[in-house]
Amino acid sequence: MIKQIGFFIEIVKGSIITARHFWVNLFFHILKLFHIKTKRKGAATIQYPDVRQPIAYRHRSMHRLMKHKDGTPRCVVCMLCVTVCPSECIYVEAAEDPDPEIQKYPSQFIIDLTRCCFCGFCVEACPEDAIRMDTDEIELARYDKEELVFDLDKLLG
Ligand code: SF4
Ligand code: SF4
Repeated sequence: MIKQIGFFIEIVKGSIITARHFWVNLFFHILKLFHIKTKRKGAATIQYPDVRQPIAYRHRSMHRLMKHKDGTPRCVVCMLCVTVCPSECIYVEAAEDPDPEIQKYPSQFIIDLTRCCFCGFCVEACPEDAIRMDTDEIELARYDKEELVFDLDKLLG
């Protein structure tokens, strides 16, 4: 019985704290609505998605593959990104390039973003700077998971 009373007291205490935050924030929001300035900075409410916070410079967003000037992928299919990926979500298939200096190019390059943990290891490992995570695309919600499987065309943009 004493245990139950203890739980009840904690619930009441928690509810009081939540209610206090609610009413105090509401009060300052109303002041702000009438352009009344106070010393209190108040709660920062970002009206997402209409207003968006700038993304940090060193963020990791959705991947993209870099291209040569002629539009061909920079990737030389060294498989380092595939090897280093902890989620095993990169699949690359090589094809022979007619240019003997390039040797190989990716005929398939697939990243399954449903498994990706956005560690950035693939970007770090790439010796050709052929893959980057700087698209600013951070909204991954999709109705269909298949849309999160990015192929060569999607990755090359
Ligand atoms: S960010 Fe990490 S988990 Fe995602 S594809 Fe690159 S290496 Fe794999
Ligand atoms: S590490 Fe770079 S060059 Fe190597 S397969 Fe991956 S994207 Fe291509």
